[in-house]
Amino acid sequence: MIEKFVFEGFEEDELDLVKLVTASVTTTIFKNIGLPTLRSQCIHIVRDCSKEAPMYVSNCGYEKIIVNSKHAFYWQYAYQISHELGHLSTSSWKRHPRTDGHMWIEEALCECHSLIALQEMSKITGPLQVGAIDYCSILDEKHNDVEVAPEWFSQNKTALSQATSLTKEAFYMSRYIKKSVPADSILRDNRLINQLTVGLSFNEYLTEWQNLSGDEVSVPKALMMLALE
Ligand SMILES: [Zn+2]
Repeated sequence: MIEKFVFEGFEEDELDLVKLVTASVTTTIFKNIGLPTLRSQCIHIVRDCSKEAPMYVSNCGYEKIIVNSKHAFYWQYAYQISHELGHLSTSSWKRHPRTDGHMWIEEALCECHSLIALQEMSKITGPLQVGAIDYCSILDEKHNDVEVAPEWFSQNKTALSQATSLTKEAFYMSRYIKKSVPADSILRDNRLINQLTVGLSFNEYLTEWQNLSGDEVSVPKALMMLALE
């Protein structure tokens, strides 16, 4: 799959490891589900440090991801690109912008993509392993001060529904999802959300999603557990 990527804005001396990181995260994310139907032959990865945040570009007519990781910050790059590949995986360009209050779910799932990709990288012997272990332990320290449970969820549901990016609440939800659902199921359930009807209530949305997923352990089921009160 790595031959699908075109890199722009990187320095010559970091390109080998940038490619290695891309191959690693791509294998982790797409090994079971394959790439989605792409809008172009290649996926363009552009580093632009003038951008405030990384993004999956939904309105440019071809597959383009912008990252803003610093020179040779390979694990920050891994973190950013795997999040944006989560948006690419579910072809989120098809339905941006959405205003039905469920955008936080996709953002939380994309954060899960970063956690999953870095965790996998930390298990594989090679030049990326030690840095990935360090980066995972930094991520583990973050957003773990809240126990997501039905009561917390009902108190924070409004804030979540207003989120269009990774807010503090969405970070907490991503930790909950990652803990509750196996990685392969998270990656597959994320792929499905593009097929869901826009404008459904939260419960309708989860029911439609679960019908598509059909799995015993799934992201919609884990979210239903919180909404049942
Ligand atoms: Zn995102």
